[in-house]
Amino acid sequence: MRRKIVAGNWKMNIEHAEGKELINDILSGLSNVEESKQVIICPPFIHLQQAAELVHGTSHVSIGAQNCYTEASGAYTGEVSAAMIKSTGAGSVILGHSERREYFNESNEMLAQKVNIALENGLQVIFCCGEAKEIREAGTQNSFVEGQIKDSLFHLSAEQMANVVVAYEPIWAIGTGLTASSDQAQDMHAHIRSVLAAKYGQELANNTSILYGGSCKPTNAAELFACPDVDGGLIGGASLKAADFQGIIAAM
Ligand code: PEP
Repeated sequence: MRRKIVAGNWKMNIEHAEGKELINDILSGLSNVEESKQVIICPPFIHLQQAAELVHGTSHVSIGAQNCYTEASGAYTGEVSAAMIKSTGAGSVILGHSERREYFNESNEMLAQKVNIALENGLQVIFCCGEAKEIREAGTQNSFVEGQIKDSLFHLSAEQMANVVVAYEPIWAIGTGLTASSDQAQDMHAHIRSVLAAKYGQELANNTSILYGGSCKPTNAAELFACPDVDGGLIGGASLKAADFQGIIAAM
């Protein structure tokens, strides 16, 4: 069966020494994370090795990066490869976050390449998708999100797809305080699962974790996570405060 997952995306926040403190605070308030659950902390690259060392030995808590480059190595100043991420002890990578799509022009095609190289290097992929406000208002969010998934993931084999987690993050809900209602989240998650089932079969679709992201907080997490197709959350702002992140983990 699919795992419940809470992943924290620190984005471009937290300097090195504070990172150690935040991870220690998160771990100190965490009771045992059951085997059917996973907590993933995704700090900026500079924290990865330290963070992986800090969580080492804590069951079902691991570290992820927020991006990787399309190429394996070479003259790509400023970029970080999937192999480098893996070498820090991190196990996952977020790909396709709407901020990267918007500010760094990441296309579905480029993301397909990033997904490939991440999986080739043994990283679990947290693949983000989600529509802008205008698309939601036009009522075309299902086909839009379906297109993102098809273009960036559907070249994968079922075996590869088993290492992909999907994170539905409506852009209008990210960092805005406007959370999707549990009905909106459930409808989209059920749609994503049906799209995966049509391509890869019901079993793989049932085993794929689909996370919700967008202004998820300790106060709304339990209601969102109670939806049958919502398997946890990708958390931005609330992952920067140990107590809030722990509250969301407790809701899982
Ligand atoms: C995110 O950026 O992945 C996110 C969900 O942000 P927030 O929780 O701050 O809306």
